[in-house]
Amino acid sequence: MTQSTTVPLHPVCRHCGSDQIVRDASARWDAAAQAWTLSGVYDCHFCDTCNREGDTLAQWTTATGEEPEGAGSGPVPLP
Ligand SMILES: [Zn+2]
Repeated sequence: MTQSTTVPLHPVCRHCGSDQIVRDASARWDAAAQAWTLSGVYDCHFCDTCNREGDTLAQWTTATGEEPEGAGSGPVPLP
């Protein structure tokens, strides 16, 4: 059985359903690139719509609104 892992996912708030999810991150100055580069993303999620926060706030869904099997806290998308 072939299982596709290429289905695009996005986080939504498990309380209000909003996709306005924000995470804190830390950035370090990269002198060679002359730019701030992302060095870490913290576990805590914030919802801009209902102002709730928590490590398990985000619910990962597909574009069709289905929660993927075994998504857990979801992937950690980095740029
Ligand atoms: Zn919310």
